[in-house]
Amino acid sequence: MPTYDWQDTIVAIATPPGHGSIGVVRISGDQAQSIGSTLFRGRRSLAKHPFRTLRGTFVDMAADETIDDGLAVYFPAPRSFTGEDVVELHAHGSPVVLRRIVACALREGARAARPGEFTLRAVRHGRLDLAQAEGIRDLIAAQTTYQARLAAQQARGALSTQLYAFKEQLLTTIVHLESAVEFVEEQLDTRSRTALVADLAELEAKLHGLAATYRTGRLVREGVSLAIIGRPNVGKSSLFNALLDTDRAIVTAIAGTTRDTLQETATIGDLPVRLIDTAGIRDTSDIVERMGVERSYTALADADVVLFVGDAAAGPHPDEKRVLDHLRQRQAICVVNKSDLVPAVDSFQKLLRQHHLDLPVVGVSAHTRAGLDQLKATIQQVAVGTTFDAGHDWLITEARHAAALTTAAAALRQARETLQAGHSEEVPLAGLHQALQALGDITGETNIEAIFDRVFATFCIGK
Ligand code: GDP
Ligand code: ZN
Repeated sequence: MPTYDWQDTIVAIATPPGHGSIGVVRISGDQAQSIGSTLFRGRRSLAKHPFRTLRGTFVDMAADETIDDGLAVYFPAPRSFTGEDVVELHAHGSPVVLRRIVACALREGARAARPGEFTLRAVRHGRLDLAQAEGIRDLIAAQTTYQARLAAQQARGALSTQLYAFKEQLLTTIVHLESAVEFVEEQLDTRSRTALVADLAELEAKLHGLAATYRTGRLVREGVSLAIIGRPNVGKSSLFNALLDTDRAIVTAIAGTTRDTLQETATIGDLPVRLIDTAGIRDTSDIVERMGVERSYTALADADVVLFVGDAAAGPHPDEKRVLDHLRQRQAICVVNKSDLVPAVDSFQKLLRQHHLDLPVVGVSAHTRAGLDQLKATIQQVAVGTTFDAGHDWLITEARHAAALTTAAAALRQARETLQAGHSEEVPLAGLHQALQALGDITGETNIEAIFDRVFATFCIGK
């Protein structure tokens, strides 16, 4: 575990790597203002004009050379992102320019920031709690609107607020039991024990409920993979494109065009979904095509969800038997494409019954887009297991949080059982303290440096 050198002044490029019209270098710590003032020359001085956007030039003192024109802002402690003195230098977004500004700051005594170190300092100075910091990290990394919404809520403290209520309830119970230990005359009678046991059971259920949302939350965060499987020419590539809303895959009327697997990520419902278009599956003697078929089976085996695509006009086909065998115990959907030509959902339902497979069957047309909305809803339902209300339900998206909630619930259960069994108050108290600590781990109140090391390793530099 690295020991944190909190008193260092740190510097990093805050904007993404590469060329942009603007790039920002951020400096935080006691020397931020003096280092910033050495680098930045304007008509007005940083020190005398906090919170103001000043125009000026960035100067390399050693080379006696102007690096760039730009803007600078000084945020004195504690009213900055980190809670320390912060100077932001806004230059043109050239990696060369930004790196040179950083190099000058380093020469003036700053140290290069480690990943997440700005946010870490914000947490240390009480500007954010750890769950909020993770929300910011996830917001930066979000790929779907729903991911961004959840992360923004977490960054604003939605999870922390829920946890706060749980911790309050635990603390009340702890105080209650502690006083029973301290003062003999306040020992719990059977009735108040029963009431406490009921309260703890309720809290335990809430913690379990919240932890259980991680099953969906993980999918929202990491996404699901979806393989599109079927005979040649049933319209797999057309469906892939229709779900993507683009023309990424090549569609032709010649059977066997898609020999390799193609992948693109789409947002379906609220989930990031990696769509995998595969080569058509059929019995063939062509060696190259057979390799494609085997790759399709591999894609089928690896995917979270499988779309088995049939052709409404052609109807069920004998070559589909082997595919059906691979759909057992899988999250799969039977898609009857080309339903604009003839309705054929019934014949595929019959095929599945004959194979003792119980899958949802959806009729669609990749051409007219009929049935696509229903297909997307079915994909979300099959992937997530249940429907969830993206507008209201809170989801745990972080393994660390789910684990801490489960630990807290287990400790609570132990406390409840010992209380119920009539043990003296010290025994359940230990469990309650353990539960409180586990909840505190989520927001970073306890065990600070050990948790920080794990969490901040997942941040990028400059954040
Ligand atoms: P793949 O081999 O399974 O990937 O099938 P393609 O997507 O390449 O499509 C094969 C043929 O079926 C092409 O001529 C498509 O235009 C046609 N096709 C695909 N989807 C539909 C559909 O929904 N309705 C109709 N009528 N034709 C379709
Ligand atoms: Zn294809």
